[in-house]
Amino acid sequence: MSGHGDGHIVAHRPFPAAATVELGKPQLRENLRNATHTIRDKRLRLVAERDDWEELRASGARIKDGVLARLPELLDQFTEAATAAGAVVHRAADAEQACAIVTDLVRATGETEVLKVKSMATQEIALNEALTAAGIEPVETDLAELIVQLAGDTPSHILVPAIHYNRAQIRDIFARQMPGVDLSTLTDDPPALAEAARRHLRQKFLTARVAVSGANFAVAETGSLVVVESEGNGRMCLTLPETLISVVGIEKLVPNFQDLAVFLELLPRSSTGERMNPYTTVWSGVTPGDGPQQVHIVLLDNGRSAVRDDPVGRQALRCIRCSACLNVCPVYERVGGHAYGSVYPGPIGAILSPQLTGQAAGANRTLPYASTLCGACFDACPVRINIPELLIHLRQTGPKPAGERAAMRAAAQVMRSPRRYRSALRSLRWAAAPLRWTNRRGRLRRLPWPLSGWTASRDAPLPPGASFRQWWADR
Ligand code: SF4
Repeated sequence: MSGHGDGHIVAHRPFPAAATVELGKPQLRENLRNATHTIRDKRLRLVAERDDWEELRASGARIKDGVLARLPELLDQFTEAATAAGAVVHRAADAEQACAIVTDLVRATGETEVLKVKSMATQEIALNEALTAAGIEPVETDLAELIVQLAGDTPSHILVPAIHYNRAQIRDIFARQMPGVDLSTLTDDPPALAEAARRHLRQKFLTARVAVSGANFAVAETGSLVVVESEGNGRMCLTLPETLISVVGIEKLVPNFQDLAVFLELLPRSSTGERMNPYTTVWSGVTPGDGPQQVHIVLLDNGRSAVRDDPVGRQALRCIRCSACLNVCPVYERVGGHAYGSVYPGPIGAILSPQLTGQAAGANRTLPYASTLCGACFDACPVRINIPELLIHLRQTGPKPAGERAAMRAAAQVMRSPRRYRSALRSLRWAAAPLRWTNRRGRLRRLPWPLSGWTASRDAPLPPGASFRQWWADR
């Protein structure tokens, strides 16, 4: 059995408690609604253009399942090819090991500042915190990540980490936190905000000697890494510094470039509602005289092998982090990403985080309940991850409070015997008889503990005065 993961994938507050706090923020809900509806409408238009969308989805799922089936073999193939191309490949079992590898590599360069291009994997392992503790300043270069970093906040969305801010709020963050920003030209117009960020980052791009990146895909056949992005900031990070360290989850592998082509069709349409993403950067090891001359790749497990061991749960590792499931989720739209307590929010976070960490970790056991099971996430997922099926699987296999286990055992005993079941119902009706006389609505607003959890968000109906069998016998 493989080990579980750690880092920023462990929720520290139960989802219901965190969601209650987030529901008290009307501005957040409005920001989320506007942003998610805009992206999902674009996605629907672009997906409708392709007659073969369903075949593409099926191909994406099939390729990823094939990768998971022969993961150890493909990892070896990737390592061999990347090493032959001049990269140094490291393997990290968990977040702590990955952070230690990256920190040591940066220390060896003697630098105290690193550029970062948006990477879920480095957020997952809490790399920024580890670098800061080692006296190294990480500088986020993706615009949305930069906003979140300047605000001292955490991301709320996989693709649009600052989705919970509107532009007036972003202008305030820049005015307060961006060193040397020109307040006379800083308005809340998107071009003015982009210009302020560009000026802030330009100097960093020109002077930084070390960058840390993630990767959207890793091609086993050639040992290549692939980053797709919209701003071009990523490409600056990937090409200008002398040392490039990439942290890559082991599930990011694709066998070859033909398979990669399928995902380059699926990803932009599903994530930003575009036919093609503006920047795709592919690099294989080191090219003398061009780009970084020291290239390190850290292949990250952090619980992925444990997820792969579960025949039902392993489909979560097909995820290409497009965030389409977040943008259609009625729960995410109302509470935002922070309620999930993990770098992976929304429907994919509700299944991936508890699997990576094991459901007993922190408050992760509450995440599979953060869903209405409406199925919109499954319809939107470009690699056909059956998220509702997995949510139910995790609810069935996850840890339950001792009281709930005892209650379910007792209920099972009663329901196994028709005689016991009839007499239990009779007792319940007698106990509820006085309430039926005084309660005209026939519903209770609040039940006493431990049943109060049920009535926290719904009424409880009173048992009827007679069973159906009695009613039928009286006709
Ligand atoms: S689960 Fe599917 S829809 Fe959600 S982020 Fe992953 S690939 Fe995209």
